[in-house]
Amino acid sequence: MELMNIFGQTLPELTELVTGWGLPKFRGKQLAEWMYKKSITDFSQMQNLPKDLRQQLVQACVIDRAARVDQLNSVDGKTSKFLLEFSDGVGVETVLMHQPYGNSICVSSQAGCNMGCTFCASTLHGMVRNLTAGEMLAQTYYINDLLQKTGEKVDTIVIMGSGEPLTNYDNVLKYIRLLHEEYCLGMSYRSVTLSTSGIVPNIYRLAEEEIPINLSISLHAPENELRSELMPINRKYPMLDVVKAGGDYGAKTRRRVTYEYILIDGVNDNIQQAKELTELLKGQLASVNLIPINPVAERGWNRPSQERINAFEKYLAQHHVTVTVRREMGNDIQAACGQLRNKHLEE
Ligand code: SAH
Repeated sequence: MELMNIFGQTLPELTELVTGWGLPKFRGKQLAEWMYKKSITDFSQMQNLPKDLRQQLVQACVIDRAARVDQLNSVDGKTSKFLLEFSDGVGVETVLMHQPYGNSICVSSQAGCNMGCTFCASTLHGMVRNLTAGEMLAQTYYINDLLQKTGEKVDTIVIMGSGEPLTNYDNVLKYIRLLHEEYCLGMSYRSVTLSTSGIVPNIYRLAEEEIPINLSISLHAPENELRSELMPINRKYPMLDVVKAGGDYGAKTRRRVTYEYILIDGVNDNIQQAKELTELLKGQLASVNLIPINPVAERGWNRPSQERINAFEKYLAQHHVTVTVRREMGNDIQAACGQLRNKHLEE
């Protein structure tokens, strides 16, 4: 019989499991505590569970986490990138960044990606499969356990690793809700950010969920045609519809939407484009995060000079757009989405 993986199950699901075996409800809570509060993966260590239940669990279930295959640390010690593998051999990247405001992790939502963005390494080999809520949680717990050794924890999460989270909607939402549950990590929704390439219907859907997470939208171009060239998904969900959905999200949740804008030398970084971007976002509760492109060998785009980056930023700021330039971390460790995984796939 195939074992059922219970890592990633909610308390109601765990309760249903044990009551289905004729046991009282509180056994489900105890199981959740061992698994999520104490991070125990071995049923035999769950001392307050009756021996029979422990045996039953061993025979029917498994707590499937993730194993580390590779790790790269940046020279400044602030960023580590992990290649984690699940029991079916599928690997994903997870990144830990020690930020001034705490420990931030970047979680993958899919193994690979099929969005086809021209500047991105994650999509080069297509998509293998969606990740389950448990697999996203396993990435989180892998790093949280590591941090706990020095009395630290994961403080903020960006779902900004490989994959398009809004095409894996149910699993991603289940994961976010689990993060927030008191019996799990008890994180505030405000410490979670989801980044999307602009899956319009699901941006509207997310705005109705009543979970005040931060939304980032990968924009990367201020006009429709250029955006289609950079991001094929724009042919399905055109730029103006994406920005309109972002406006709706901001209005409904009262959370400021961040538009991510990769700066690519000579492609989308001139002042005329800064002007178009300003006009596009006029009247929205929005901010722009400029990201000098992390060049991916397979692609052939370059980052603009510091002067051009500064000029673009200055234009936005002078025209009342809230703007930040991404602090670049981990350039020396292949931190661009998907680069470490690709290296392993190619080897
Ligand atoms: N699919 C989602 C989340 C994954 S991509 C999305 O598109 O938002 C996460 C962010 O990394 C996006 O803003 C993406 O555009 C950016 N990114 C991808 N490749 C990059 C590169 N080579 N340099 C800089 N940023 C990159």
